[in-house]
Amino acid sequence: MEFDHILIRYGEMALKGKNRKKFYSKLQDNLRNLLAAFPEVKVKRTQGRMFVQLHGQDPNPVMDICKEVFGIQSLSLAIKVANDDQQIKDAALYALKNSVETKTFKISVKRIDKSFPIRSQEFNREVGAYLLVNSNGYTVDVHQPDLDMKIEIRTEATYITSEVIKGAGGFPVGTSGKSLLLLSGGIDSPVAGYLAMKRGVAIEAVHFHSPPFTSERAKQKVLDLASELTNYGPSIKLHIVPFTKLQQLVFQHMPDRYSMTIMRRMMLRVSEEICKKESILSMTTGESLGQVASQTMESMNCINEVTNYPVIRPLITMDKLDIIDISRKISTYDISIRPFEDCCTIFVPKAPKTKPKREKVSYFESTINFDDLIQEAVEETEVIKITKESQEEQYEDLF
Ligand code: ATP
Ligand code: MG
Repeated sequence: MEFDHILIRYGEMALKGKNRKKFYSKLQDNLRNLLAAFPEVKVKRTQGRMFVQLHGQDPNPVMDICKEVFGIQSLSLAIKVANDDQQIKDAALYALKNSVETKTFKISVKRIDKSFPIRSQEFNREVGAYLLVNSNGYTVDVHQPDLDMKIEIRTEATYITSEVIKGAGGFPVGTSGKSLLLLSGGIDSPVAGYLAMKRGVAIEAVHFHSPPFTSERAKQKVLDLASELTNYGPSIKLHIVPFTKLQQLVFQHMPDRYSMTIMRRMMLRVSEEICKKESILSMTTGESLGQVASQTMESMNCINEVTNYPVIRPLITMDKLDIIDISRKISTYDISIRPFEDCCTIFVPKAPKTKPKREKVSYFESTINFDDLIQEAVEETEVIKITKESQEEQYEDLF
């Protein structure tokens, strides 16, 4: 006897009426992709239920992955048996003995297949009595049990589920369209990407790279961050924009105190061009209100002027410490704190303007032709596909 299934319960998406089918098949696809390292594991859908069939695979590593998949509200290990009362009782006994930190339990039978001869209430009592007789140290508590064991007798088979484990919540990645994540090497932007993905957004990423001022190792950091994000969704198309010429033009010709604001505006302009090319409808950044000079209300007002594409800022009201907690949880923190320079840290003015004005910025920018260099940067952008496999290859290189 062993747990041979994981039962998947849907989250918020169960509410989404017409779109429901699309959501379920996306979740199924995403689960399949994220579980690709276990070829024997299958993801199946029956009426109103999704199951991961383990086919002999150890449930623990599979469960660990499933717990992080967006769109799942909760999960339970389950045993599938024939609709036979003795087999059901034995499976229930196994599930009880293998559940963690359980002293009290309750049995909840749901008899969907009415041809099963024993009625739910009666079978509840029969199974409960069987477990008490054949085990030690457990008692029944119908009000607040440690384990509420569900026995679902369906036409094709009976499923016995163990404890309910919380899932990642959110929507399946890809059900809320796509956004272009501005991915720096810092702590915030990968967390922003993760939170957007949690809301069902698929991600492409753009990174502004300024060689020789920023090194190959700084670029590698961004590849590694993008790679971590593939743990939560499909492969990520990463656009690496050569930013040196634009940055130099800004820093040579724009007033020092405005250079940071103008550089940010260039980033959004290039990003919008990439969005158009890739049919992406929004951008996502790791900005958090008041964190640095570019993230004051005035700066955001000024920077945002150059695009009317929606800019999603999942971290806008979050404190740094809360952002760090998430970055630790999603394993991006250790990569983000590697001490390599970013294009924004190289060209920082000594005293960037914290309250820039739109009129002034527009005036300064009108004195120089930036458009050609923006086009050139877009044309010379390098595209790298980041997949889960590329992550594994990198790890192999380490050993
Ligand atoms: P992060 O930790 O994400 O770098 P930060 O607090 O350092 O953020 P800034 O450096 O002001 O803040 O950047 C704000 C946002 O602008 C970032 O979260 C990111 O979305 C975007 N950004 C900054 N630098 C780059 C870059 N080199 N390439 C792509 N996006 C960038
Ligand atoms: Mg930064």
